[in-house]
Amino acid sequence: MGGDRCDVAVVGGGPAGSSAARQAAALGCRVVLFEKAAMPRPKLCGGAVSEQALRSLGFALPERLVDAACFGTRVHYGSDSMLGRSDERVAVLVRREHFDHFLVEKAQEAGARVRVGEVTAITRVGDEMVLQTRDDQTTCAVVIIAEGTAGRLAKDVRRPDRNDESGVCLECRVPSAQLPQFADLKDVIDVYLGVARGGYGWVFPHGDFYSVGIGGLRSDLPAPRRVFETFCRDLQIDVDRTEVHGHLIPCGGVRRNLVSDGVILAGDAAGFVDAFLGEGITYAIRSGRISGEVAARAVQAKDAGPATLTTYGQTCEMAFGRNLRYALRLARLARRYPSMFMRLLATERTVLDRYLGVARGDRSYGDFVWWLGLRAPALWLRGLSNGRRAPPHIAGR
Ligand SMILES: Cc1cc2nc3c(=O)[nH]c(=O)nc-3n(C[C@H](O)[C@H](O)[C@H](O)COP(=O)(O)OP(=O)(O)OC[C@H]3O[C@@H](n4cnc5c(N)ncnc54)[C@H](O)[C@@H]3O)c2cc1C
Repeated sequence: MGGDRCDVAVVGGGPAGSSAARQAAALGCRVVLFEKAAMPRPKLCGGAVSEQALRSLGFALPERLVDAACFGTRVHYGSDSMLGRSDERVAVLVRREHFDHFLVEKAQEAGARVRVGEVTAITRVGDEMVLQTRDDQTTCAVVIIAEGTAGRLAKDVRRPDRNDESGVCLECRVPSAQLPQFADLKDVIDVYLGVARGGYGWVFPHGDFYSVGIGGLRSDLPAPRRVFETFCRDLQIDVDRTEVHGHLIPCGGVRRNLVSDGVILAGDAAGFVDAFLGEGITYAIRSGRISGEVAARAVQAKDAGPATLTTYGQTCEMAFGRNLRYALRLARLARRYPSMFMRLLATERTVLDRYLGVARGDRSYGDFVWWLGLRAPALWLRGLSNGRRAPPHIAGR
């Protein structure tokens, strides 16, 4: 068969794909990373890279890529607001175009070859996988699909998500000069609970611009643009002067097929996103690295059948599966009892502080859910006896 040959081909140069390519190359595989856009390419994202994501990278992120360090969050719900601040950094804010480009360069440094081009089809021919681009074919032993949510290749491995298994996010970047009302938002982020049932809105400070967005389950946001406009109007943001983009985001914690003969899914393509927070970068990096390792082992063993690749799902499960399931449980709880749950986060310091520990990666979602379950009734009753009433949604702020 003609065309290019390698051991492991990776589709997609986001955090999952570059992490996968880097890992497989570091383990001695010949790796080709396909990215359809020339880097640095634009990427819709709030750009919050949590401490656990940074720890998962396996190398330090240069300071030049950091717009701001984030030590906590101001949480708003109706007329309630609370600042939760920690002595330790919770996340950094980056521009995804530069962050992703840097990660691709790290993969190249490890020996991966990068090719700009869209993979249009993947087929199995005998024991080999053949990837088709517009210009040619590449043959390999294992393919890692890390195409994000918008891709069409993963559908041969797993069924599409239902409306209650994926979220929708809308975002725009607003120049800081246009939002003097957020001038004090420097090393914390703003989170507005209740924008959509169980979802939230955000304002993240990136220095010369703010990332402003909303996210919630698709089934809860049938008209996301309208909700986004209301959210912006409430914050006195002139949405007509900005370009708004939307994107889907899967809910992690849902059972999905992750591998098929010669193929592994990683990152968003595998559905690995925290369903409560919408954090996907951590899981993209972690699943990317695990997929690279499993692919390298399959190449060494000359066996890329589903039985060999199944260890991928098992390793992801051990690394973060439980966490994603509890995040989903929490998201469902927040949807079911929005006013109770969100009021607790926006008014009870112990709850917010505890949650910041989860966001930092120091505590698991399981710990948080159990801890909260034991205390929520008493905290809620205390709030009621203090005369607080739940607002219907963000209006009134
Ligand atoms: C509005 C919004 C805000 C978000 N904010 C945050 C946040 O603040 N923090 C956080 O942790 N997460 C956030 N997320 C989630 C996060 O962006 C994703 O979870 C993360 O980008 C997943 O990484 P990935 O590598 O799996 O996919 P992606 O980052 O989507 O990368 C996929 C890549 O594959 C390429 N590609 C696709 N198809 C092909 C093909 N056929 N051939 C070649 N290349 C292809 C694409 O061009 C793209 O570069 C946000 C998501 C949205 C929508």
